[in-house]
Amino acid sequence: MVVGEFATPADLLVVGGGPGGYAAALHAARLGREVTLVERDALGGTCLNVGCIPSKALIEVADAVAAPGRVAPWGVRSSTEVDMARVKSHLDDVVADLTSGVAGLLDRAGVRTMTGTAVFNRPDRVAVEAGDRLEHLEFRHAIVATGSRPIELPDLPLDGNRVVGSTELLFGEDLPDELVLVGGGYVGVELACAYAGEVVLPADRIGVVVGRRPNSDTVGIANTGATVDERGLVAVDAQRRATDRVFAIGDLTDGPALAHKATAEAEVAAEAACDRPAGFDPTCIPMIVFGDPQVVSVGLDREAAAGAGITTTSGRFPFAASGRARTLGDADGFVEVLADETGTVVGIHAVGAHVAELAGEAALAVESAATIEDLAGTIHAHPTLGESVMEAALDLAGRPVHRA
Ligand code: FAD
Repeated sequence: MVVGEFATPADLLVVGGGPGGYAAALHAARLGREVTLVERDALGGTCLNVGCIPSKALIEVADAVAAPGRVAPWGVRSSTEVDMARVKSHLDDVVADLTSGVAGLLDRAGVRTMTGTAVFNRPDRVAVEAGDRLEHLEFRHAIVATGSRPIELPDLPLDGNRVVGSTELLFGEDLPDELVLVGGGYVGVELACAYAGEVVLPADRIGVVVGRRPNSDTVGIANTGATVDERGLVAVDAQRRATDRVFAIGDLTDGPALAHKATAEAEVAAEAACDRPAGFDPTCIPMIVFGDPQVVSVGLDREAAAGAGITTTSGRFPFAASGRARTLGDADGFVEVLADETGTVVGIHAVGAHVAELAGEAALAVESAATIEDLAGTIHAHPTLGESVMEAALDLAGRPVHRA
């Protein structure tokens, strides 16, 4: 930094416009702060532009392609033809709708958005570069939500053509005839399911999806005095405070790299920056794999409970006994409810088609320390998959209804 250079004051600076950053900006603005949000690329971040949303839209396309096979036994005969150009523009439309919605929310909340790449150069200053323009901001508080980037394998460098990352797999112009995916995390599993049927060696394209590294180095957060570990994660306290004036949230911090975790941390950091009592201490962060079948895991599983010294009992309900699963044409899978010795629900897990939609009820039950009787005694609408949560709790209570 040149001594004496002018810096524009910024009351509360947010760096990054993903589900962490834009949510933090909205909360802080609603709490009366003057918020400036700097985003180098597109509002919505990884999640809306190249992550959660386009990947789920692509999975829906894959499901639609598979639908004729699924409904043929019902007497419905149809065939499908995939127009990849139209698929691509559908994905673009979904993303554009959502990102323009975010822009509208920020605008209406009075957030000033700046396009540019931010790099911290002092504990209270950031340089924002946009083309040949460089602006310095001196902030009272900063919430940093710069997310993460794909990890590359030294022996398998991405070339954007035959060896590609998740973004190219989602938005590629053409379908590979034969695809090999390297990486078995949830992103790898989801993409493998979306492309299933092509997974034969040798391949004409390799997708490298082996995890992500936090963008803490590129934004220079260490120059604020924040501590960054060897994995690139920023050390934060319960309020997500990394220094007395800098907060870090989302993929930059420890824990599952998930959009809903970033959004939850955003509220905590915004509240803390406004001197309001706040702390990030969730009982559970729901995890979903949108594969085939889908997998939901909320709270403790048996192993984790045993590790924590908690003795659990469990109840289970198979979708084979669910009227709704039968009507949906896919009755493989189950819901399992785990409770501790006091009867408090500590975990809910499910495998099967459409189980992602059970994650909300499961998280509410675990987070609010619902009891087996709370779940078993709540009247669930019929016919829904949600009934399976109640039925698993009834099984755990020793009075199963639709199970011998
Ligand atoms: P991001 O969303 O990554 O946003 C960071 C933003 O900061 C970006 O817009 C970036 O351009 C900007 N930025 C970075 N550096 C700078 C800088 N120096 N200056 C200015 N701006 C900067 N999560 C789920 O919960 N559910 C899912 O189903 C799911 N599916 C996924 C599928 C894929 C293929 C991928 C890749 C990820 C998926 N995720 C999913 C993970 C999810 O996208 C991330 O956990 C989430 O986006 C993290 O939010 P964030 O705000 O921390 O960062």
